[in-house]
Amino acid sequence: MASKRDYYEVLGINKNSSTEEIKKAYRKLALKYHPDKNPGDKTAEERFKEISEAYEVLSDQQKKRAYDQFGHAATQGMGAEGFSGFGGFSGMRDFSHFNDIFGDIFGDFLGGRARPSAREPRGADLRYDLEITLNEAASGAKKFLTIPRHRICKECNGSGAKKGSTPQVCPGCRGSGEQRFQQGFFTVSRTCSQCGGNGTIISNPCRVCDGEGVTMETTQLEVKIPEGVETGQRLKLRGEGEASARGEGSGDLYVVIHVKEHPIFRRDGNNILIEQTISFTQAALGDSIRVPTLEGDVEVKIPPGTQPGNVLRLIGNGISRLHGHGKGDLLIRISIKIPKKMSKKQQELLREFASIESQ
Ligand SMILES: [Zn+2]
Ligand SMILES: [Zn+2]
Repeated sequence: MASKRDYYEVLGINKNSSTEEIKKAYRKLALKYHPDKNPGDKTAEERFKEISEAYEVLSDQQKKRAYDQFGHAATQGMGAEGFSGFGGFSGMRDFSHFNDIFGDIFGDFLGGRARPSAREPRGADLRYDLEITLNEAASGAKKFLTIPRHRICKECNGSGAKKGSTPQVCPGCRGSGEQRFQQGFFTVSRTCSQCGGNGTIISNPCRVCDGEGVTMETTQLEVKIPEGVETGQRLKLRGEGEASARGEGSGDLYVVIHVKEHPIFRRDGNNILIEQTISFTQAALGDSIRVPTLEGDVEVKIPPGTQPGNVLRLIGNGISRLHGHGKGDLLIRISIKIPKKMSKKQQELLREFASIESQ
């Protein structure tokens, strides 16, 4: 393997750059070298991987510290060396920072279906908002999405021409899609009015797609939701967006995750938080109680002398980490119920307890 470039050099920053500066440098470069902006450009793809890898390390305080101390040796086995690039689910390794960094980049076209220009060769990207439960987020899930979208017409294979016929080169523009004319000193070009910029004329349109080359289809897509996902994260399904009427590749489908609120569990990263109320005698004497977890109830020991606000931790009962390094914990915050009504007998016993306590 060729020797690796210094991560700071890759991002054009130095060791003293702030988190904000690192992020800014990354964003600028990632935008420039993003595969979507440089289709088929191997050099740009390599640069993009390099930039992403550098950012993955330098944006993480712990990894950055290790890198500052040990250089590239520190990143071995850290997950950075195997950066799998971009596209489809392989990009999921780096989903966490794609999410915050690319949010606003993708934001501008995620909302709409249309890529406005007739000259835009690729089909439009689509967005699908998917609501899942906390359990599904925790342990992963398979989902079927119903997606209405344009696909290449099967009847004419996207040509738009009736079976057995072919589109003719437009005589108005000789296939260029543009008409040029002289205006004073300038040559002005405008979209060809005869073919609408397509460069071809279909005299016998396909009956199925009406000459469009694409038809609306509703497809069921199976999507694997990886365990550990959080609200706002996106899965990119390459090529599952709108087909291009000009047959130049489909757009992508972005599945945006929304995790529903759970009635009992609150999520904090990969940890799950719950509140559990116990009686003051249970707190004082200790007890064993049943506590709900994502995988069903478990028995939990309350140690004698437990105080209000104490937090008991069940290690590994939380949510799996997105990139598959173990699980978070279940944190049980204890609150203690003081009885509002007591029987005579209870009051007597407590008074007696109090008298001994104050001795
Ligand atoms: Zn057709
Ligand atoms: Zn034309």
